[in-house]
Amino acid sequence: MPTEPHPALVAHVDVNSAYASFERVFDPSLEGVPTVVLSNNDGCVVAASKEAKALGIPLGEPWFKLQPRAAMTGLQARSSNYELYGDMSRRVMEVLERFAPTLQYSIDEAFLLLGPRSAETDLAAFGREVKDTLRRLVGVPVCVGIARTFTLAKLANRTAKKLPVFDGVCVWDSTRPEWRDALLARLPVSEVWSIASRLERRLAAQGITTVAQLRAADPVAIRARFNVVVMRTVLELAGTPAITLEEERIGKEQLIFSRSFSEPVTSREGMRQVLSVYGQQAAARLVRHHQKAKLLTVFAGTSHFAAQRDFPNMLVPLAAPTSDPVVLAKAAGRILPLLHEGTRYARAGIMLTDLRPADGQCAFEPFRFRHEDEGIAELVDQVNRKLGGGSVGLGHGGLRPGPQWQMKRQKLSPRATTHWDELALVKAG
Ligand SMILES: [Mg+2]
Repeated sequence: MPTEPHPALVAHVDVNSAYASFERVFDPSLEGVPTVVLSNNDGCVVAASKEAKALGIPLGEPWFKLQPRAAMTGLQARSSNYELYGDMSRRVMEVLERFAPTLQYSIDEAFLLLGPRSAETDLAAFGREVKDTLRRLVGVPVCVGIARTFTLAKLANRTAKKLPVFDGVCVWDSTRPEWRDALLARLPVSEVWSIASRLERRLAAQGITTVAQLRAADPVAIRARFNVVVMRTVLELAGTPAITLEEERIGKEQLIFSRSFSEPVTSREGMRQVLSVYGQQAAARLVRHHQKAKLLTVFAGTSHFAAQRDFPNMLVPLAAPTSDPVVLAKAAGRILPLLHEGTRYARAGIMLTDLRPADGQCAFEPFRFRHEDEGIAELVDQVNRKLGGGSVGLGHGGLRPGPQWQMKRQKLSPRATTHWDELALVKAG
């Protein structure tokens, strides 16, 4: 039992095989069945369940190559249903906020900032409670890693995922030091967050191939030979917090833009301005990365110590993939009715998902823009939300549909959490 108080800790929470797990919530027949999720147009595998990975199916594999074997192996495929995944992600984050301040890191993972805890805190029990609550309230399996630094928490999570003995929760400091050393001596550096394959080769050239060797490296020499990011990783592996999560991240699957305010925002009007700026800045990031987004999640939150705690969030499907700042700012503003006037909001952010390459969508956007003031974009939005994306379009958008209208999604699961008519059916008996 620890005798000293726990240092400031972070918990890393990650949904296991997220997309496949989200699909399983509303289709239990997929439970235990090898399942893959396909990219837009049912092209390639973008996510695979544990069982599908066990069949040796690599991400990026074209579906037509897998199809002949599918019946034999029992492999099931689903079209990517980003609206479902976005909403499930929103639910996961909403539950996590009940436990501690939450930094969403990607569509299916987040860090809980636990701060210092008293020596009596049973961290493993806390981790299990997080895991069980998500299973009960959202229906998804997660693993939890708890440690002093982001890097170690992520490593602890990976350990919990890989080694069944942990049952999904690994508290790094509670494991025996000799055991940890033996594990790190076995793990290749590529297991460490932020160590990309190119860096892995350069480290190998310096004789550093295992996590234990990286942890033992001289941070100053590492900084000189590589860069400050790698130095921080070395410090974090040794248990010294050295990174702050930057508040803007763009990945293959999502763009996250969030900020803590220096002064709390207490009015809807104030928040409208904030979200408008965020929408425009996020749009600029999208344009810079030649991408458009089809879904926006907007969230706000008070401090966890505030008298009135509030963590509203909302998923907003966009009528068409866009990087239009006006459209994104407006979409972000949809959360405003959920906010309470006078509550002291300490942060806000938006996450953009279902990202698509920016090319091939040209005609529709200027049209939407021009009709913004007449509210036609909203009408289109409403009709599309009700009848499904692409039911109506304006001008060129209607006559000469962009690729998203024709998207092949023959294996699409219902958007069970965001559309009344696609609710899961429960049969009695
Ligand atoms: Mg995951």
